[in-house]
Amino acid sequence: MRVTFPHLGNAYIAVESLLRGLGHEPVTPPPTNRRTLERGSFHSPAELCLPFKIALGNMLDGLDQGADCVLMIGGWGPCRLGYYAEIQRLLLEAVGRDVEFITLEVPRGIYSRYWNHFRRLTSGARLGHVLRGARLAWAKLNAVEALENLALQTRPRETQHAMTTQFLKRQLDLVRRAASLKEVEDVLHSARQGFLQLRESGSGQGWPLRLGVVGEIYTVVEPLANLNLEERLGNLGVEVVRTISLAGWVTDHIFKKALGCDITAPLRRLAAGYLRGFVGGHGLETIARSAALAKERVDGIVHILPLSCMPEVVAKGILPAVSRDHQIPVLSLVVDEHTAECGFQTRLEAFVDFVQRRVGQRVGQKQACLPWS
Ligand code: SF4
Repeated sequence: MRVTFPHLGNAYIAVESLLRGLGHEPVTPPPTNRRTLERGSFHSPAELCLPFKIALGNMLDGLDQGADCVLMIGGWGPCRLGYYAEIQRLLLEAVGRDVEFITLEVPRGIYSRYWNHFRRLTSGARLGHVLRGARLAWAKLNAVEALENLALQTRPRETQHAMTTQFLKRQLDLVRRAASLKEVEDVLHSARQGFLQLRESGSGQGWPLRLGVVGEIYTVVEPLANLNLEERLGNLGVEVVRTISLAGWVTDHIFKKALGCDITAPLRRLAAGYLRGFVGGHGLETIARSAALAKERVDGIVHILPLSCMPEVVAKGILPAVSRDHQIPVLSLVVDEHTAECGFQTRLEAFVDFVQRRVGQRVGQKQACLPWS
């Protein structure tokens, strides 16, 4: 089958290897851009959340490139993700794109349906080939996240503007082309040295502010949805501390859930006193990670969420209490297809400036170091 799928940050690098291992031809949509969002929004009900619209735009782009099947993730719980695939299938059908949908989700009753999806995905592939593809995909997903984290640490310390972003892009491309685990490891090894060289001589000016980023997973991970939040913060001299990992999400929500593990227990412990249980999406995780970040003594927290995202609206209402109790500044940013870059940037700059002054007062104006200060 020629299989397309929606983008989620740089996860496409791993998905391509997984699909090849399963004996399918991946049809990767072009990189998500403003046109993708406009196209998806045009065909979507207005009240649906931003990730739905961008994903639909990706699907339309993938189908234009000749895909005959869509791979999508599903879910269940108090959040709309569980309905996404079916609504998207109906919307595509309404515009004459009647294609097969394979939805990956944790089984919950009706096991025959999941079994059919699984067989359809693996049909015709030899077990050895599938396992090799899965291992390569897993290694690539971890490598992509390791590279992105190195870039987050390097960007505020880089000696030449935008060098980190360019270097990261080249390394991601190498990981994408890697055909074996050894090649992935080699790329990662040399990239570590490369990132160190980019920041070597810039580390003597002090150390940057550290801001944690929490929120809805798609909006945190997908640069178009968050208007390049991490890059913007890095360019303002901030080291971003990520709290969301796609590899972690797969481990928790696919492997551990399938084994019946209670994945919310550690989060409930961290969020104790603020939120008692799962509210869908990443709502509980946002509160739990924010409390953990405050204890780790990051300088502030940026919370990002799509307009009308129910789980994150719940979290947004609780975050002021976390902020007050732990004496940590929190900025909540709501995004949708109408969010203007200029206003977004201004809010980030004002928040970073505020946090810098606060840290400066606390440690005698010596610790924080921003490019314009
Ligand atoms: S978590 Fe929020 S944005 Fe994500 S699918 Fe659910 S409702 Fe939509």
